[in-house]
Amino acid sequence: MALVHDRCICLRKFEYSETSQILTLFSRDHGLLRAIAKGAHRRTKAGASKFDGGIDLLDIGQAVFSHDPSRDLSTLTEWSLREGHLELRNHLRSMYLGQYAAELLSFLVEEHDPHPALFVALEKCLAELSTSRREEAFLGFELELLRQAGYLAELMMCVLCHQELSDREPAAFSPARGGMVCRSCLPQVAQTMPFDFRLLRLAQGLLRLPRVDGSIQRLPRLTRHQSDPINRLILSHIEHTLGRRMRMSAYIFEK
Ligand SMILES: [Zn+2]
Repeated sequence: MALVHDRCICLRKFEYSETSQILTLFSRDHGLLRAIAKGAHRRTKAGASKFDGGIDLLDIGQAVFSHDPSRDLSTLTEWSLREGHLELRNHLRSMYLGQYAAELLSFLVEEHDPHPALFVALEKCLAELSTSRREEAFLGFELELLRQAGYLAELMMCVLCHQELSDREPAAFSPARGGMVCRSCLPQVAQTMPFDFRLLRLAQGLLRLPRVDGSIQRLPRLTRHQSDPINRLILSHIEHTLGRRMRMSAYIFEK
């Protein structure tokens, strides 16, 4: 069995028996994988533990694991923590956004399909979530995740007639069609969400910003009045596309 070394971010964890964990890891060069960390909570008599005392959500570590894409579960053999995100864990909103980013990624990316640029983008996003730029950092990552995973909704033009969307006429988003629908086409589509054109212009502007190594650069400051409706639109698109609910969304939006 081949053992590989890779930098990983822990996206999900499940305590398995008293001593072990089953983890969903996003590795830089091997993509998404599920791994068992046997004895993660076991300590030697000297107090040392095999995986730095267990692996937590969003921890970033240098890992060694068995790599065989034909098997469901890899075995983690070594883990040394590189970034435990203490600052992020001190701020509830930051932690929720980080966990939401992890949840979205774990469903939008195929297992064993490497996305090194997305890895770098997530690592950067997690670092920025503990700062006052958390809202724009999250939204920038979310758009990039959709783009790199091939799930970006059509926000630039009407998804039906491909005409540009006018600022003077109401347009709406159709989760079923995966994009914006112009006023003329609206009668053809059953369920749509009205979407403010200023926010649409803002989202279009974000998608046109320069990107370096898969991360959007020069993100403007955003308030939650701006980012929440865009995040909601993206959530409805993702939930419709995947046919499942995102658990963390309940913690992201105010009721
Ligand atoms: Zn149209």
